[in-house]
Amino acid sequence: MVDTAHDHGDEGAPLRSVDDVRTEVLERVPVLAPIELTLQEAYGCVLAEDVHADVDIPGFASSGIDGFAVRASDVATASSDAPVTLRISGRAPVGRQPEATVGGGEAVSIATGAPVPAGADAVVPIEDCRIDGPTVVVFRPTEEGRHIRPAGQDVKAGDVLVTAGRRIGPPELGLLAGSGRASFVVHPRARVVVLSTGDELVEPGKALSYGQVRDANGYTLYGGLRDARAVPYLAGIIRDDPEELKEAVLGFATRADCFISSGGVSVGERDVVKRAFFRRGDVGFYRVAMQPGMPQAFGFVEDIPYFRLPGNPVSVFVSFELFIRPAVLKMMGRRDVFRPEIVAVLDEDLPRRHDRMQFARVRVSRDQGRWRATSTGLAGSNLLSTVSRANGLAVIPAGDGDVAAGSQVKVLLFRALEDA
Ligand code: AMP
Ligand code: MG
Repeated sequence: MVDTAHDHGDEGAPLRSVDDVRTEVLERVPVLAPIELTLQEAYGCVLAEDVHADVDIPGFASSGIDGFAVRASDVATASSDAPVTLRISGRAPVGRQPEATVGGGEAVSIATGAPVPAGADAVVPIEDCRIDGPTVVVFRPTEEGRHIRPAGQDVKAGDVLVTAGRRIGPPELGLLAGSGRASFVVHPRARVVVLSTGDELVEPGKALSYGQVRDANGYTLYGGLRDARAVPYLAGIIRDDPEELKEAVLGFATRADCFISSGGVSVGERDVVKRAFFRRGDVGFYRVAMQPGMPQAFGFVEDIPYFRLPGNPVSVFVSFELFIRPAVLKMMGRRDVFRPEIVAVLDEDLPRRHDRMQFARVRVSRDQGRWRATSTGLAGSNLLSTVSRANGLAVIPAGDGDVAAGSQVKVLLFRALEDA
């Protein structure tokens, strides 16, 4: 497999390892300052405060079933041969005070979720009873506390409902809804401005002239950012003109938490990002010892993190996965920022690169209790369909010769397996 689409750029730039670059990026991107959002807006964000319960949850002792609230001692001897008859003193409906209390020899008809009347210490299921006019005949004994959900069983008043640092998923949103508050302090979603640079680029949906290329990268990044629950903004196509790029970027500086640009690093193209920002900002240009995606840059423009990616679509995808996704997650307060990794058995030989780590697109599947990884195609960094068929990136360390079929490799899973 020959890489027909090398990322040639930045021949003179320093060569750095994937880990080195990733460590630097993750150290330097800031966690976004918390803001206050309403319940629905806060979904998916990371909580930046401990939220306490203002009341017990549940707030009162309630019945877990439909039946009769009783004193367990009154029905201790009940059986089908010798049932116990109790006087019905009233009803306990949901959402209100019970209409009656339970004294010795009495029962209150109770609905699921209704407050347990005073005097009762158990509920007998309706199936174990027969109503007989003003009385109820109970055929089975019960024990104290049976079918009663105590107050504060889930969370006690004053306890932490959801802790700072936890991402608000479905159960957290439900818990927060019970806190008595309407808004919460969370880390906001990162607003990420995406720019595609290249004189050859055309917006999707437009007709192509010979030699033109539809902008794929903007949309790959848009999807990746949405998937990470960030807020992408596509700033569109920027010509290979440093002034145009600079103007576009600076125009967004008050509204962006992060910039990503792709393209403009090929030899002969004279790096458009470097010409725009090398002097102005604090942006480092380097080559990462990886395939695909060698030339990269990371730094700050107007104090806003700026990622420059090469133009090849697969390089964009892989670099986003390795560097930008974890960084954006950190900005949004997430602590687990890396994709899950599994160890899989290779289906076929894969060539190594002697000087750089390779990220091979593979499809992993379960096979007799192990993970199996099948290559989805050539290593060319322009072949985006190989990513589309894949669900993982196999990490092939630098070295000589092939990694033989049957070898174990580490695979980063970049999409949920049920997504097919
Ligand atoms: P560059 O880094 O600008 O030299 O681009 C490398 C290769 O990626 C070239 O073949 C470009 O046409 C292609 N390319 C650059 N930007 C994009 C883009 N936004 N969408 C699809 N292909 C691109
Ligand atoms: Mg270009």
